[in-house]
Amino acid sequence: MKRKKLMKNLLINLVEKNKKYTEEGKLASYIPALLKADKEALGLCVVDIKNNEEYWAGDSDVKFTIQSISKVVSLIIALNDNGRENVFKKVNVEPTGMGFNSIVNLEIRNQDRPYNPMINAGAIVTTSLIFGENEDHKLQRILNFLRRATNNPSIDINKEIYESEKATGDRNRSLAYFMKSSNILEGNVEEVLDLYFKQCSIEATAKDMARFAAVIANDGIAPWSDEILISREVCRIVKTIMVTCGMYDASGEFAVHVGVPAKSGVGGGIIATVPKRYGIGIYGPALDSKGNSIGGIHILKDLSEELELSIF
Ligand code: GLN
Repeated sequence: MKRKKLMKNLLINLVEKNKKYTEEGKLASYIPALLKADKEALGLCVVDIKNNEEYWAGDSDVKFTIQSISKVVSLIIALNDNGRENVFKKVNVEPTGMGFNSIVNLEIRNQDRPYNPMINAGAIVTTSLIFGENEDHKLQRILNFLRRATNNPSIDINKEIYESEKATGDRNRSLAYFMKSSNILEGNVEEVLDLYFKQCSIEATAKDMARFAAVIANDGIAPWSDEILISREVCRIVKTIMVTCGMYDASGEFAVHVGVPAKSGVGGGIIATVPKRYGIGIYGPALDSKGNSIGGIHILKDLSEELELSIF
């Protein structure tokens, strides 16, 4: 009982302490509908894997679009469908040191694969590798996977944000057509992009994301049912790529200060996975210059120190 209270108080204090940073951040504006978020919102949920206990504080029930956190989902499904050799023929696993929507590397590498599955170019490729009879079937597979991995059967898309991203997604269109021209991307480019925009527009809360993170942290086994949702091998690969590339060109700094596999999205979400211990979901839509939740990063730094989370 005492332990539970301590954890709950810790989370409340960390939200209060770090709320001030939201003033320094900015909402993502290149997807216009994201500007409707409350810039000061900040909240988190932690799932303790050992006893499947959930702790939360702040805006942990507010829905947001998972955006780039969906890159973890498409990587998991692509690896399951195709096996790792076939996936990594099309997308590499090296950090870029560039922003998440950078275009420059695609050509400099002389028609090589995109650098990694955690940047836009790489995720458009993993999305293109998802099996399905048609685009709707592929989307249903993504949604069904996430519904099981969050233990929330009502997970769905936010249509307004999907429309907004589709209407303004020319940068992603450029990346995709470039990759089509160099035979990295196969099939119908507009259909692949449509699926990519939809997966980015999936809505969830920090609590949902903490459960998803807990499954990954627990080598693919859902702590609430002991069901195997992801293979151990796929989890290992995904966590490794999250450590090196999950926070874009801030991944190195994040590894030093927090030290756990994590993935962020411009909707303000972060998932952090502490192997065998915790799944953490954060929401704070005010972003720093790299596109990561500014309050979220500060909370994770503090939490890592308090609970000694670093895996290094
Ligand atoms: N949907 C966003 C995009 O493609 C995802 C980017 C992100 O979350 N960093 O631009």
